[in-house]
Amino acid sequence: MARVYVGLGSNLGRRAEAIREASDRMEDAGAMLVALSPLYETEPWGLVEQPRFINAACALDVPWPPLMTLTILKGIERAMGRVSGARYGPRIIDLDILLFDRVHLVTDRLTIPHPGMLDRATVLVPLADIAADVVHPMTGRTIGDHLGDLGEISGVAPYPPGCRPCAS
Ligand code: ADP
Ligand code: MG
Repeated sequence: MARVYVGLGSNLGRRAEAIREASDRMEDAGAMLVALSPLYETEPWGLVEQPRFINAACALDVPWPPLMTLTILKGIERAMGRVSGARYGPRIIDLDILLFDRVHLVTDRLTIPHPGMLDRATVLVPLADIAADVVHPMTGRTIGDHLGDLGEISGVAPYPPGCRPCAS
């Protein structure tokens, strides 16, 4: 088994339900869901003229190697009706592999750890809820440390508004 951290995002349709459905589908595919973070509503990153996202992170134990894990996550995205569109554009569900054990991998299809994760509060805030003490294999520093490096966070709010932390 490998411990994998996955970032989940949705900004089309029933966003919170899509996050829960994706985590259910990961379990149905054979992963063990170890933790699912609270949900956050976040300002879009990259292409900013689009609806706000719901973001979360989950910890999984999986029996698969990295590329097969990506294939399974992409299959779940497709099964949930994701169509290909602009990179960083609107999507029903986005499933990104953030960390995979202590693997460092760079291929055309897959880069692990996820290259953007350390700059994005939308990723680090939910990830720190379930993995604050986990060490990033390239930097040797914890997720909590990296979140602290971002300084004051804006554009990431508990969802539904007002609850903190919110049940996922
Ligand atoms: P985004 O970068 O907005 O998440 P996509 O979800 O459309 O965009 O992903 C584009 C491609 O990124 C995927 O088809 C996949 O091959 C590649 N990719 C590279 N590294 C990763 C990773 N760590 N997790 C998920 N996809 C990845
Ligand atoms: Mg993606």
